[in-house]
Amino acid sequence: MMKLDQIAVRQAKGVSAQKEQELHAFGVHTIADLLDYFPFRYEDYRIKGLTETKDGEKGTVQGKIMSVPSLQRYGRSKSRLTCKVLVDGLLVTAVWFNRPFLQEQLVPGREIILTGKWEQRRLQLTITDSEFPDKGTARSGTLQPVYSIGGSITQPWIRKTIKQALLQYGTMIEEMLPHQLVDKHRLMPRREAVERIHQPDDTVEGQAARRRLVYEELFLFQLKLQAYRSLNRKRMDGVAHVVDAESIRQFAQTLPFELTDSQKKVVNEILTDMRQTSCMNRLLQGDVGSGKTVVAAIALFAAVKAGHQGALMVPTEILAEQHLRSLQRLFEPVGMEVGLLTGSLSDRKKKDAVASLQMGLTDIVVGTHAIIQEGVNFRSLGLVVTDEQHRFGVNQRSILRRKGLNPDVLTMTATPIPRTLAITAFGDLDVSTLRERPQGRKSIQTYWVKHGMLERVFGFIRREVDGGRQAYFICPLIEESEKLDVQNAIDLHVQLQQAFPDLAIGLLHGRLPAAEKDEVMRSFGDDHIDVLVATTVVEVGVDVPNATLMIIMDAERFGLSQLHQLRGRVGRGGHQSYCVLIADPKSETGRERMKVMTETDDGFEVARRDLELRGPGDFFGTKQSGIPDFKLADMAADFEVLEQARDDAAELTAQEDFWTSRAYERLRMVLKQDQLFQGDLLD
Ligand code: ADP
Ligand code: MG
Repeated sequence: MMKLDQIAVRQAKGVSAQKEQELHAFGVHTIADLLDYFPFRYEDYRIKGLTETKDGEKGTVQGKIMSVPSLQRYGRSKSRLTCKVLVDGLLVTAVWFNRPFLQEQLVPGREIILTGKWEQRRLQLTITDSEFPDKGTARSGTLQPVYSIGGSITQPWIRKTIKQALLQYGTMIEEMLPHQLVDKHRLMPRREAVERIHQPDDTVEGQAARRRLVYEELFLFQLKLQAYRSLNRKRMDGVAHVVDAESIRQFAQTLPFELTDSQKKVVNEILTDMRQTSCMNRLLQGDVGSGKTVVAAIALFAAVKAGHQGALMVPTEILAEQHLRSLQRLFEPVGMEVGLLTGSLSDRKKKDAVASLQMGLTDIVVGTHAIIQEGVNFRSLGLVVTDEQHRFGVNQRSILRRKGLNPDVLTMTATPIPRTLAITAFGDLDVSTLRERPQGRKSIQTYWVKHGMLERVFGFIRREVDGGRQAYFICPLIEESEKLDVQNAIDLHVQLQQAFPDLAIGLLHGRLPAAEKDEVMRSFGDDHIDVLVATTVVEVGVDVPNATLMIIMDAERFGLSQLHQLRGRVGRGGHQSYCVLIADPKSETGRERMKVMTETDDGFEVARRDLELRGPGDFFGTKQSGIPDFKLADMAADFEVLEQARDDAAELTAQEDFWTSRAYERLRMVLKQDQLFQGDLLD
């Protein structure tokens, strides 16, 4: 028998070739898609008494026509039709705009059902819909679904089309969920839920239908993540790093500081994973300045000690250069070779770097995406660490696998992820968290000032620089226009040079050649530059502990997590640090963002407030986070369902018979069709 997802939507009654094209734009290609095109709210056409209808709101009432209607026309197409109707003992004026054709149907004595906005003071209903009970009622007495529509697809059309499709194909709707889960959570069967969500008898029923479908959506999403995770665990062809605890301890002793308890804990979690044959797929999250780099360094050390190679991948060349220097400092004393591979290396240098990797002369390579590109091969890649990248795991992992590599993967992020999103976006990863910052760090004092106070901000710069410290001055971010960003930076650079003729003012932006960027960063790091004017190229990862002042121009243009990232460039040493936000936000949320920044410098708290302000959809761009656009589920509101779905999915995929039993064939099909599993994981 044909399945609903194999029948083109064109087959549904009333769908012409043109309508079909328009439905495609809404992602509706098959009958299954059409039936799953859920309403996002309902319009209430249930008949109520006038007393239950609130002043100024919409309601539906029934009454008797009491007067001959009167019609006024103005202009070519505008008209106003009025008539008296007796409703619940009140004589009410019903008003229709631009519907002159109704005039002859408004016969005194006839019953009528009116839907419209009620104005108590004037005893007037402004009608949006009316029906006559003697002609049968299509809408009245019901909740009518409201769909997202556009083009020639109108609300009445999509309502009718879906209603007919339900009649025609409803019996073919199959259950997707295992019956034990349907029972456990007392969910509506799928067919009933789909029918009821389109045509609920009442709100309770609509909600029950929605609950079932939300659960299904979240369960199927989690099933993918959990199945992926469980398969990855089972794969035995990863690298088991054999390292003794003693050499790790010795290496840790060469570090210039003692590890925090938090760092020790996550290092242990990582090493435990690395010793297993199965592949590590772990996320390390820790606030800015919590000391993730050194954790990565220890993991890289372990990989090399075990006879393999390690790679550290970062999003920018500046960061690659910085990590290269700090890793060289750590690894040269223990005789490990650290190399650089970025897109901007000269061809000859690139060739050398690639050859050294292939021959195993380089133990650890630091670089950008260039590392995993075509033509780069390793002698034996054991570990890949990615820094400051939200969504490395899945996609790049498959690139690596295609190259015949199956290294352990550690993904590091400073954007603390609220629990909701961690479960959603990273359900396929194990998570380690750095909870504390290194000892002796003072919290960063944050101020929000108006543009008019630039003089005082300059005074602040003077004070810090005179005290031997350094400052960042970040330029506004012009959405989509790197060119304007650069121009801003150049202008600000000139302005500061004039204001501080005796200070060394540096300039850093994305358009500078790589060598020059590196040179500027190096000078700033060596304290040869007092104030660094920069675009957001310094946003992630840059580490100059002597810098204590972060000034952000037009701060309202930045999002909260970006502001927090930028602020995280200071407060990285023992000195008291400051962040000054220059902003005159016009919007409420803009002011709210500035407020959050001045109230807390805890990244987890910032993230929580950010989520509150923006809603989950926006929190990360959906693209980079791997969070899908759910049809029905709302990650904040449906969080408990999400957790439940995650647990159910994890339990199910851990069962051996999930992978073999016929009972789960349907679910395994869903997995097989997903991009995540394309290729080599399922057969
Ligand atoms: P992030 O987590 O933002 O990547 P980094 O790894 O760059 O942070 O570390 C921030 C700073 O803290 C660096 O200068 C680093 O040398 C220092 N640091 C890291 N761990 C410790 C520690 N346990 N004690 C003292 N300083 C530390
Ligand atoms: Mg870092």
